Amino acid sequence: MIQEKRLINEFLDFVRIGSPSGKEGKFSEVVAEKLNALGVKVILDKVGSLIGSDGSNIIAKIEGNNLPPLLLNAHLDTVTPGENINPNISEGVIKSDGTTILGSDDKAGVAIIFEVLRVLKENHLSHPPIDVVFTLSEEIGLLGAKNLDYSLLDAKYGYSLDSEKVDVITTSAPSHNKIFVKIYGIESHAGAKPEKGISAIEVAGRAISKMKLGRIDEETTANIGKIKGGSATNIVAGYAELEGEARSHSEQKLEQQTQHIIQCLKDAVQESKKIVNGEPLLARIEEKTTREYTKFNIPSSAPVVQKAINAGKKIGLEIRTGKGGGGSDANIFNEKGIPTAVLGIGMQNVHTKQESIKVQDLILGAKLLLEICKS
Ligand SMILES: [Zn+2]
Repeated sequence: MIQEKRLINEFLDFVRIGSPSGKEGKFSEVVAEKLNALGVKVILDKVGSLIGSDGSNIIAKIEGNNLPPLLLNAHLDTVTPGENINPNISEGVIKSDGTTILGSDDKAGVAIIFEVLRVLKENHLSHPPIDVVFTLSEEIGLLGAKNLDYSLLDAKYGYSLDSEKVDVITTSAPSHNKIFVKIYGIESHAGAKPEKGISAIEVAGRAISKMKLGRIDEETTANIGKIKGGSATNIVAGYAELEGEARSHSEQKLEQQTQHIIQCLKDAVQESKKIVNGEPLLARIEEKTTREYTKFNIPSSAPVVQKAINAGKKIGLEIRTGKGGGGSDANIFNEKGIPTAVLGIGMQNVHTKQESIKVQDLILGAKLLLEICKS
């Protein structure tokens, strides 16, 4: 029932409309028009102006049978470089021309949802009421989902179409803290009076060298991703700043790792202590931790998971559950009380110029979602 050509062509059309985070305006217009053409109720919210985007979150309300309402979600934005994308198909694989990402993350999700809505309508198939939610700026902190008006939704469970392998349903994701640190050293002439300075860069270096980073254990990761500081080679650096993160499927481990990073910095500050002319000199830090999103963990026995596994069986696809390493809009939907699992849609090497998707996987993703909606 899935019309493969229509699905592929629509996916290619979507990819050609660049929509890097913040610049989803054109794409959200096209998506809203297409939903209108399907004759469903479409709501465009004002969240874009709040989060610095020229687009809107889009909610479509589709009537259905008496079963519990279902949420289908994909995000409208892509990472960069995500404009002037020129997709091509070779040997069943869709890629960009190598100068940009492809944008299958998450336009494959958007295209699959459209194809399934069309097939449900054309064939008069019975399905639950569906809330379709297309979000803004997922890639830069789940901003669309975080600011959505949840009173507009009726869904009792849902699926975000936003991960890689079609035969894996992601049922858990970690919590994520971001850590911002400002290090204040003491400036001094690096040639004439180096002993009177305390280098913020040295403090940063000493702290980082003591930090456990990377994969901490099977549930926890950590990274210092940004560093900048100093003003000139002949000045002992008076200032440096770091940005890092920690993620864990365990709140306790996340807290431990976050504190560990901060403690390494505090230790390095203490070690920076100097006595100059009888006066103690010390660097100092200001640190701030923010919660990006909170973990979820849906049991395998939950209806949202079982429904997907059973739908897979009907199309000869054995689906297993998987753990996610990153956040997605599903974290926010789960926080808001809508158990939402993440479906794979075939995208590969996302967030790189080598991103690709197999035509067969795109079709398989659509077949799976259709079975889920029918069941
Ligand atoms: Zn994505």
